[in-house]
Amino acid sequence: MKVLTVIGNRPQFVKAAAVSRTLRAAHEEWLVHTGQHHDDDFSTVFFEELRIPRPEIVLDIHGGSNTSQTARMLEALEPIVRDVEPDVVLVYGDTNSTLAGGLASAQAGVPVSHVEAGMRSFDRRMPEELNRVLVDHLSSLLLAPSQTAVDNLRAERVAGAVELVGDVMVDMAYAIQPIVQDTPLPSSFPSQFVLATAHRAGNVDDPDRLRALVALLRAVPHKVVLPLHPRTRARLEDAGLLDEVERHLLVLPPLGYLDFTSLLVRARAVLTDSGGVQKEAYLAGVPCVTLRDTTEWVETVSSGWNVLVDLDASAAVSALSRPMPSERPELYGDGRAGERVVAALASFVGSR
Ligand code: UDP
Repeated sequence: MKVLTVIGNRPQFVKAAAVSRTLRAAHEEWLVHTGQHHDDDFSTVFFEELRIPRPEIVLDIHGGSNTSQTARMLEALEPIVRDVEPDVVLVYGDTNSTLAGGLASAQAGVPVSHVEAGMRSFDRRMPEELNRVLVDHLSSLLLAPSQTAVDNLRAERVAGAVELVGDVMVDMAYAIQPIVQDTPLPSSFPSQFVLATAHRAGNVDDPDRLRALVALLRAVPHKVVLPLHPRTRARLEDAGLLDEVERHLLVLPPLGYLDFTSLLVRARAVLTDSGGVQKEAYLAGVPCVTLRDTTEWVETVSSGWNVLVDLDASAAVSALSRPMPSERPELYGDGRAGERVVAALASFVGSR
């Protein structure tokens, strides 16, 4: 089987790390890195730390609006799909790289398989939601991380075959969280801290929302550690808020997966608008407060480990002091989703 995989941003590197090596043990993979996240903090460190195979093709497509970025990716991917002639194209998650990889392949008549199919926030203002929905409807093999995702796909009557494989990010979390548990933190580091991440367009692009975000983070009654996403840094700078944030919070550069995970497993709680981080907090048994009013990872909320507060500071502060549930069921699989992805692809290609 020959698989062409298209990835381009930070969470996709984590997801590909759970699949690519297993895939290459028995099959041929061509890895295309679109360049959506291209610098050392966001790309190189993940390939090195997570031992992701070096991409066969690296594009240099980043910046610009979502529409123009997706269009440039589509144009670049068309000849690659034609020349590589894969049996199937594999895409992950919900980014511009996901949509461009899926659409370029479907238009070339090559079947698409979508890992993390069926996730929905039901918020069509999010660019990620548009990408997810569109890719699911053009995919032939939809690999879902949870039963909720399978139910969403059935309700939407997608055309492709749906399979529940579990979540590939769980594979990485289960592999890495125990290893970093005892990594020493710098002695200057606070012994009790809340780990925060924020970068969603809906939270940082609008100056009023950005101010509300800063007020919320400042209202937290513990030291807040903030590995700062470059998009958020730029918006804070534009709004004249960066100094205030640096004075009151412990601001770090974006971290590699190992450093980030070593903070996550030791945090008192996590405040985030990231999809992946909500789930990783759950897997680590760290309470999460989500800075959005919707989530795709609804089971983390119904199980009591995650609370959606949007940018309401007092709701966030009271969510941080809530008691934690005693149960933490296995919501997203057993940490072997990567193997199931490879098996599902092989059986799909073999049956054609
Ligand atoms: N992450 C990281 N360093 C950081 C922040 C996040 O390695 O400074 C990891 C995190 O552990 C998770 C992924 O990046 O695996 C989530 O990425 P992001 O929040 O950018 O994307 P989302 O999940 O919201 O699509």
